Amino acid sequence: MSTIRNFVIIAHIDHGKSTLADRFLEYTGTIEKRKMHEQFLDMHPLEREKGITIKMQPVRMNYKFQMPNAEKRDLAFSIQNSEFILNLIDTPGHVDFTYEVSRALAAVEGAILLVDATQGVQAQTLANLHLAQKEGLVIIPVINKIDLPSAEVEKAELELIELLGVDSPDILKISAKTGIGIDELLEVVAQKVPPPEVSQSSRLRALIFDSHYDAYQGVIAHVRVFSGSIKKNEKIRFVATGQNIELLDVGIFSPEQVSKPELGSGQIGYIATGIKEPERVRVGDTIIRQSEAREAGGLALPGYREPTPMVFASVYPENQDEYEVLRESLKKLKLNDASLSFEPEESSALGRGYRTGFLGMLHMEIVAERLRREYNLSLIFSNPSVVFKVKKRSDEEMMIYSASRLPQPQDIESMFELWAQVEVITPPRFLGALTTLINEREGTIRETINLAGDRLVVKFEAPLREIIIDFYDRLKSISQGFASMSYALGDFRKADLIKLDILVAGEKVNAFSEIVPREKALWIGRERIQKLKDLLPRELFAIALQAEVEGRVIARETIAALKKDVTGYLYGGDRTRKMKLWKKQQRGKKRLKEAGKVDIPADVFLKMLKK
Ligand code: GDP
Ligand code: MG
Repeated sequence: MSTIRNFVIIAHIDHGKSTLADRFLEYTGTIEKRKMHEQFLDMHPLEREKGITIKMQPVRMNYKFQMPNAEKRDLAFSIQNSEFILNLIDTPGHVDFTYEVSRALAAVEGAILLVDATQGVQAQTLANLHLAQKEGLVIIPVINKIDLPSAEVEKAELELIELLGVDSPDILKISAKTGIGIDELLEVVAQKVPPPEVSQSSRLRALIFDSHYDAYQGVIAHVRVFSGSIKKNEKIRFVATGQNIELLDVGIFSPEQVSKPELGSGQIGYIATGIKEPERVRVGDTIIRQSEAREAGGLALPGYREPTPMVFASVYPENQDEYEVLRESLKKLKLNDASLSFEPEESSALGRGYRTGFLGMLHMEIVAERLRREYNLSLIFSNPSVVFKVKKRSDEEMMIYSASRLPQPQDIESMFELWAQVEVITPPRFLGALTTLINEREGTIRETINLAGDRLVVKFEAPLREIIIDFYDRLKSISQGFASMSYALGDFRKADLIKLDILVAGEKVNAFSEIVPREKALWIGRERIQKLKDLLPRELFAIALQAEVEGRVIARETIAALKKDVTGYLYGGDRTRKMKLWKKQQRGKKRLKEAGKVDIPADVFLKMLKK
């Protein structure tokens, strides 16, 4: 019987997945104790800075069964097996990275469902559990952080019992921080996670579940082998793209890449392809041997459904010379972030750029940061927007991804917008504040369910535009951090929307335009202008800021001119020379004003987007 166990840790954000992975790395001796640091698998600099996981991270561990502990459990099992290969994939918990989780789930047979004893089951616990159940994975329920004084272990247990229909002894209680219960959990993983099915066929079939770009070895694909084995120098083919290559290297994650002679059936590891054009490798594609291509017809693994982007924004390089760099960077980034989507776009003011689609605001923020840091790009992002549908008087229907593309009002017959189905889990004491918030966001509560551990699941629907931008932050603040949410796309519904334009010194700034509900336009317009006033640096001349809808100014502000004392270096009473300088300054100001050009710094664009 195979001694391989492939599993993921899934949980709501901050319930301790990466910390539990640390203990596994330590207890299996994968990482020496002196090299260990917190959240070891959060390897990306942004993950370390923000303290959250944004990428799934695979790691292979060798694990030896400890007999004394094992005896208490299943002796027959422990005698048969003593050494295991544990392939773990740590996953992100934030709703914006669900696609990462779903891809990891398709590469494993089991999942540890981790619940923070101080928080109980939260929205992403449920959402990720449903995904894991859909994949048919074996679920190991675990309650974490039992070392904390505020831990409510019984409550969390009641919730898990209700949710999974398991018995209390089947729920492990651990502390990923102090190490309580980790030995036992490793045993349970070895016993309960089924070994990968051994295929009778020796034909190679491997799934690409992730990838990244390496300057020397080109595209590195992260793979799960389902049958056969892959060796170095093997001639392989990607089924979907038809690309043929000879492999430069194969190996495992330890968690850094370690070269191995081969990756056998059931294993998780990487292959170095040498491919320098990122678009030739697709996450979700199947790898086969070229020599077996003829028999391999119909052998493609199920792969993945493309995720649906939720928010869109236009991205332009500040300097048009960097357009090509931007294109290459987006392609490389997509290798490592399969949920990113982009299409070329042109704007008269900003030049050539891309319309990019994201799974949420955090996702957009992370992509913006990665483009800036990893690829050294200075970019302008437009106001993020959800997608709208327009029915024109000519009966033509079109999708609108950015406000600047909205047809003239007289050409529009009606507009439609996407709704979201939202699930919030909250302690009952915040229900009042939550209801107010939902009303503010034009939502309607559909159902309220009591959970065993004395918490509520509130299901409601609301326009996606009201949910995607900052609902999560507001929810956290009204519930002192206790409530959590997840959401899914609903249907298109008719809506009364108009375009809000922002003018700086009389010129429309397309990147600031947005589509808003008619009844909120005045309020939003005022808010945007006020914010812009605080952000824009002052100039030598006064700058008029205006918010406009349908050709009418609905709000205005003025940024006062910077008073520069041009005569400062003259002392005494040389009035004529002062007058001369003042005159010169006046002329300069007039010229500037005529030019009417206000340079809007890129960081002002990004700050305007943060609402
Ligand atoms: P993730 O988002 O699920 O990966 O969670 P992390 O592993 O990043 O942990 C979130 C926070 O909880 C960190 O500050 C950890 O130190 C802390 N934490 C995780 N497990 C435990 C535990 O068992 N006990 C205590 N006291 N803190 C923990
Ligand atoms: Mg984590």
